[in-house]
Amino acid sequence: MRDKENMLFSADENKFRAELRDFLERKDAKKIEHEIYERDFYPREHYEKLGEEGFLAPVLPVKYGGRGKLVYEVILAEELGAACVPLAWIYSTSSYVYATIARHGSEEQKRRYLPALKKGANIGAIAITEPEAGSDVMRIKTRAELKGGTYVIKGEKRNITNGSKADILLVWAITNPGVDPVEGMSAFIVEPKAGMSETGFEVIEDYKLLGGFPGTVNSHLLFDEMCVPGENILGGTNEGAKIMFDELSIERTLYAAMLVGEARPVLELAVKYSMKREQFGTSISRFEGISFKIADMVTRLEAAKLMVYHTARLIDGGFDAEKESAMSKLLASEAFYEVAHSTVQILGGRGLSDEYPAEWAFRMARLSMIPAGTNEIMRFIVQREVYKEQKGKEEE
Ligand SMILES: Cc1cc2nc3c(=O)[nH]c(=O)nc-3n(C[C@H](O)[C@H](O)[C@H](O)COP(=O)(O)OP(=O)(O)OC[C@H]3O[C@@H](n4cnc5c(N)ncnc54)[C@H](O)[C@@H]3O)c2cc1C
Repeated sequence: MRDKENMLFSADENKFRAELRDFLERKDAKKIEHEIYERDFYPREHYEKLGEEGFLAPVLPVKYGGRGKLVYEVILAEELGAACVPLAWIYSTSSYVYATIARHGSEEQKRRYLPALKKGANIGAIAITEPEAGSDVMRIKTRAELKGGTYVIKGEKRNITNGSKADILLVWAITNPGVDPVEGMSAFIVEPKAGMSETGFEVIEDYKLLGGFPGTVNSHLLFDEMCVPGENILGGTNEGAKIMFDELSIERTLYAAMLVGEARPVLELAVKYSMKREQFGTSISRFEGISFKIADMVTRLEAAKLMVYHTARLIDGGFDAEKESAMSKLLASEAFYEVAHSTVQILGGRGLSDEYPAEWAFRMARLSMIPAGTNEIMRFIVQREVYKEQKGKEEE
């Protein structure tokens, strides 16, 4: 079928999206989302079903049951964001974990960790942020010291999505304190629940974010001399910064895709509501104060979506996409914020009540500007890359 949405994608990509949408509809993912808002539970078993049905980890190489392209992962992030926000958040950091192990892990690590992550039986988390290292990720203090064949990890990580629930954590720590952290940090695969490391790991707390963030966890973790086998280092000693920058480009692209998805049903709500609601004897959609808001929302969101897919194609093509992934995250979070903000306004008093999901979307959209690097940091990266490119041109 020829339609505008499908024409940017291959037949196989469209088939993947169609099958996924069909599955999410059959499972009534919107109803699950509603139940989570009402009862605040972590939808682990629903996440597992996605794995059982074979939808998780399409980015993995064919050898590990994947399709070998990030663009499928972006489709998955977008559709999950649209169908069930808490499920999309579980997915978000799990996907960064398997994508990073697939790109930087040894064959043994891939064989050991990827199947359970792909099945959804294991959930992943990324642990970079610390009490004193937020935007300035190079200031991390967590130390990993090699004693015998074992790394002893000591430090704290905060704001970790899936942190207290994760089976597999990717943890960044300093392995050579004598040099610049860019050259002295490493990444580790840590199994907090497995026998190898039962001691020395503690969940200090799960934060309550922005008046509640049902169905998700965001944790403060303590590593108090936690022992991790030497072979769990990812991609080699002191290679952590390189892996982090690569991981962050993927993270920002998938995160942006999730936000584009989250905004989609909110926009639809605004359109439908404005067509039905009558004031002054006519549908409010006939007032330009309303309909021009819709025009701006659609335009921004569509631009963000195109940017996200363009970035995924660049990464699949083997290009560096630090600038484009920052632009994707910036555009998507600001588009989502505009969509949610305008939807609350279009719904009037009802937009502020929990009769409609607009107020919840507004909170989610506000929250979205901080994770995966704040929007100020996204602007910093974009301008830095632009000036670097210009300098490069002038030196040619
Ligand atoms: C919901 C949520 C989920 C998260 N999930 C994870 C996760 O899974 N794993 C993980 O490791 N981390 C995670 N984080 C942490 C997140 O990456 C950090 O919160 C973020 O990078 C900002 O760090 P900070 O909160 O310490 O703020 P700070 O870095 O202290 O920044 C404070 C303010 O200063 C601004 N600022 C800082 N530096 C500059 C600059 N150079 N120029 C201009 N402005 C600047 C910031 O933009 C911000 O407005 C999550 C955070 C949230 C809220």
